[in-house]
Amino acid sequence: MTFEEKRVELVKKLRGERRITSIEVEKAFLETPREMFVPESLKNYAYLDTPLEIGDGQTISAPHMVAIMCEGLDIKKGQKILEIGAGSGYHVAVISKLVGKEGRVYSIERLSSLAKKAKKNLENVGITNVTIEIGDGSQGLQKHAPYDRIYVTCAAPKIPPPLIHQLKDKGKLMVPVGKMICNLELVEKTGEQIIKKDLGGCAFVPLIGKYGF
Ligand code: SAM
Repeated sequence: MTFEEKRVELVKKLRGERRITSIEVEKAFLETPREMFVPESLKNYAYLDTPLEIGDGQTISAPHMVAIMCEGLDIKKGQKILEIGAGSGYHVAVISKLVGKEGRVYSIERLSSLAKKAKKNLENVGITNVTIEIGDGSQGLQKHAPYDRIYVTCAAPKIPPPLIHQLKDKGKLMVPVGKMICNLELVEKTGEQIIKKDLGGCAFVPLIGKYGF
């Protein structure tokens, strides 16, 4: 099977499991070659629905988790998005397809070695609407705020307050909360009102930083 055929099969599986429910997310998955974001030695495993090692003790998230987060964030063309934890750059590559050419995605990664690799991976697949920054994303990224959507790809002890502040009115924020085994929380901000929804259990590496562990 070619990588493309494996990608189509994975998307079919995620559709069947109702992890992918929209045409937009389906299309974004089909347009993003996950094999380009994993180490050479793991390319043959790129279309297993599982996290994989990407170096520095970190992982690329499982495709079903990327799908759940993309669907829950309800991303629209042209939006400005912030990702905390670039890792391999795969998740942000999928998001870049959802916002389209008129949208912009910023991703902040604390490990410079991974940030460098993520930049290279994105370049290799021709993605130009993503900027990778190095720093402590538990504090958000004030210089480009406010954002339509913010999501965190590592587990936080609680929702970092700067992320709520850096969200636009009617914006959505998604954060795994807990230690290793955590709950995926979706926050919707309307004026001063904050509504939280629990999207269920998940497992993530820890968010390290001022508002992390
Ligand atoms: N989104 C990634 C992908 O598609 O490959 C997976 C990310 S991995 C599960 C979590 C990442 O969060 C790791 O790369 C880790 O270094 C990063 N991280 C942890 N704490 C962070 C922080 N305070 N700021 C930015 N990145 C952080």
